Amino acid sequence: MTIQEFKADFQEKCDPQFSKDEIHSFWQWFNENLISISNPTDLENNYNKWCLELISGKPIQYIFGYSFFHKYCFQVTSDTLIPRPETEELCELILNQNQNTPLFGIDIGTGSGCIPITLLNERSNWKFRALDLSVNALKVAETNTKKYQLSNRLELINQNFLENQNVTNNYDIIVSNPPYIDPKERDNLESRVTHFEPHMALFVTHDVLEFYIALFAFFERNTNPNAQLWMETHQDYCNDVIELFNTKFRAKKIEDLSKNPRFVYVVK
Ligand code: GLN
Repeated sequence: MTIQEFKADFQEKCDPQFSKDEIHSFWQWFNENLISISNPTDLENNYNKWCLELISGKPIQYIFGYSFFHKYCFQVTSDTLIPRPETEELCELILNQNQNTPLFGIDIGTGSGCIPITLLNERSNWKFRALDLSVNALKVAETNTKKYQLSNRLELINQNFLENQNVTNNYDIIVSNPPYIDPKERDNLESRVTHFEPHMALFVTHDVLEFYIALFAFFERNTNPNAQLWMETHQDYCNDVIELFNTKFRAKKIEDLSKNPRFVYVVK
């Protein structure tokens, strides 16, 4: 098939299932990946495989194994969430608030590493640690760290944050987009999320605030004076997170671009 024939076939296959805009955007991904294949048989085989995956509902980022985030492109696999636009906003908020002062930070639940890698790419005098419970997610974070040549400023650590907190460090900034969805909400989520994204990164095990409670204790013990804590939250629990932190610190609620209460910023 010629590339024009692939395109016509693609539109026909996608037509009942996806909108015109989606088809247009998906075709750009297909086109970008097809043009790098030189052998016509491989071209056709890959095309057919990718079409089947797309029709099955697999997110395009998982089909091709990468996702654009902020100004960068990250490897993603089924072991990492697909980074969300809200998390880009979180990075922007942090960058706007912090210009050239050197900072030592930690990202709790790093997944693909999109948050610290973006921050370190933008701030050459910052250093970060990044924790994740998933060894496979950390392998992806490692690939992304190497891609942006940040191994000397980003240390990746395999750790269960909820169970292991007794190391004292003097962080200046803590960032986290932790799991915050109640498993009871599962049926309300889109199937492309529940079927393809890692449940460990989406769902809490006991309490929707479990990570925030742990972050409170960690922030209290392991940070310098004037330290900052930046968190992404579920819109329905943003106020609960604010209340929790206001018992001891000053917490500020920040809305996302869709005007949902989304981020909490705390200063020590
Ligand atoms: N920090 C990563 C992200 O925002 C992973 C978040 C998570 O796994 N809960 O994409």
